[in-house]
Amino acid sequence: MCDCNEQENVIDITNNHKAFQNGLIALDFGNWEKLMECSECGQLWKVSEFEKYQTLYAVKVPDLNDWEDVGDALIKEKIVQDRGGITEQECMFSGCEHKQVKDSAYCIDHLYETGTGH
Ligand SMILES: [Zn+2]
Ligand SMILES: [Zn+2]
Repeated sequence: MCDCNEQENVIDITNNHKAFQNGLIALDFGNWEKLMECSECGQLWKVSEFEKYQTLYAVKVPDLNDWEDVGDALIKEKIVQDRGGITEQECMFSGCEHKQVKDSAYCIDHLYETGTGH
């Protein structure tokens, strides 16, 4: 049996991304990420591909039609949480007034976009 049910909504699969994808079927491909479905329980997962992020994530996606956006929002939340929150400093990206994520020079949107990861 699969263990989708026991997994968190966002999980770090950096060290087991190959094993994690066993039993999953790719349904759609996005920008450095793909939509996969568990062949046993039908759970949808958005899975990060190599290269863009040094940390790879798998995210449970509730809605097939909105998988890229929903997944991004969940991954951003997880990154902020993993790094210990938001600081009072402004993002270094020119013109951006959002606050930096801890241990980063960027806000979460720019951190995520530039893929500077960890
Ligand atoms: Zn499953
Ligand atoms: Zn920013």
